[in-house]
Amino acid sequence: MRRSRAEPKGGGAVPLVGEAALGSVASATHAWNLAGPMPVPRNAALVSRLHDLWITPHGVIKVAVKEKATLSYHTEGGRKLGALSFAVPGVMTATAILNENHLVERVESRQTGPVLGDISMVTTYADYRDHGGVKFPARIEQTQEGSMVLAVTITEVTPNAEVNAAVPAAERVAAEKVAAGVWFLGGGSHNSVAIEMSDHVILVESPLGDERGNLVIQETKKLVPGKPIRFVINSHNHFDRSGGLRAAVVEGATVVVQAQSKGYFEKVFTNPSRITPDLLAKSGKRANVIGVAENMSMKDATRTVEIHRIKDSVHADTFLMVYLPNERLLIEADVYTPLPPNAPVPNPINALNVELVQNIERLKLSVDRILPLHGRVVPLAELHRTVGRQGFHRQGCIQLCSLWESLNEWARPLVHKGKIKEKFHALRPSNRRTSVL
Ligand SMILES: [Zn+2]
Repeated sequence: MRRSRAEPKGGGAVPLVGEAALGSVASATHAWNLAGPMPVPRNAALVSRLHDLWITPHGVIKVAVKEKATLSYHTEGGRKLGALSFAVPGVMTATAILNENHLVERVESRQTGPVLGDISMVTTYADYRDHGGVKFPARIEQTQEGSMVLAVTITEVTPNAEVNAAVPAAERVAAEKVAAGVWFLGGGSHNSVAIEMSDHVILVESPLGDERGNLVIQETKKLVPGKPIRFVINSHNHFDRSGGLRAAVVEGATVVVQAQSKGYFEKVFTNPSRITPDLLAKSGKRANVIGVAENMSMKDATRTVEIHRIKDSVHADTFLMVYLPNERLLIEADVYTPLPPNAPVPNPINALNVELVQNIERLKLSVDRILPLHGRVVPLAELHRTVGRQGFHRQGCIQLCSLWESLNEWARPLVHKGKIKEKFHALRPSNRRTSVL
């Protein structure tokens, strides 16, 4: 899939200009993405990708034969149509409607998603055309629980196109200690952060689904043995960001979300998940959800964790970021994903990145480093460079931040002993405020 963006303001991972290639692949047991040079495991998407394969006009016939579908006939608008009904255990149930020419006209299916539980989908195929002997629809539309989620016009079809089917190494978590008791949990497409408190742990983000959520939870338990994960903070309600929350609920964590999405999460946590029951569905546990309107502070003898709403963002209205004032760390998702090192300043500038700068300034947060929930840990100067801050501030900021960053590596033990802390504070770029943009 090649995606480009029509909106003037950006979002997620699709660039503002040009195209981004994304390959979504599934085998019987694994799913992965092809976006960069290396395939990235995405097993949370396995069931939905198998569903998507088995509802294609050709896939649905193959799986109907395999699963011994029942065939019946009915009349719709004066036309006699066939209906193939079947179930793929652990994946889906479906009925494929065949028209008078035995072409698949519609597939009505049900599958379990990591966030919404069991959902019904209707996919329609229209305007079949011949592509070198292979018939394929030129128009595909799909609804989910009655809402339109997909409308595609097909202009070109390549039968039996080549696919890179090499299954990547298993999904993993790579933990990076960013401060005493704070770990950046990367190693996949979506990051999390574990924060150790006196007698518990706060997890920021449990993304994707049960598998990623569990990997993150197990890694956190290894890093902080003996302390329960009492809270999981959700950055926003998008499916990729909230798919692993249910695993954290099973672990006993209270879910912290932006207040406007509290009711939504309480509802979806109780939705039935019967086709592919996940850990929460099997556990019978109930979720405890806290809503944060604008700010919330979680504090004990170890540290303070501040949760702030990201205001006026086009990406999401229910948007939270997490700030550690003592460590000067900011944790955010999707409003800023660092570019590759030394990448040129984007043109046009990504409005989402500007929104983050504005929110940092609005809240007067003193940030040294950003822990993005996509991508790598970066100094604040990287964000400033990405939004094209000009003049002395921009240059000075980059240099000072790089200096701080490199010194931080070897100076961290000294800083924590407080010996040279104050000197660095004076040097820090975030103490050299200038106006926003
Ligand atoms: Zn998002």
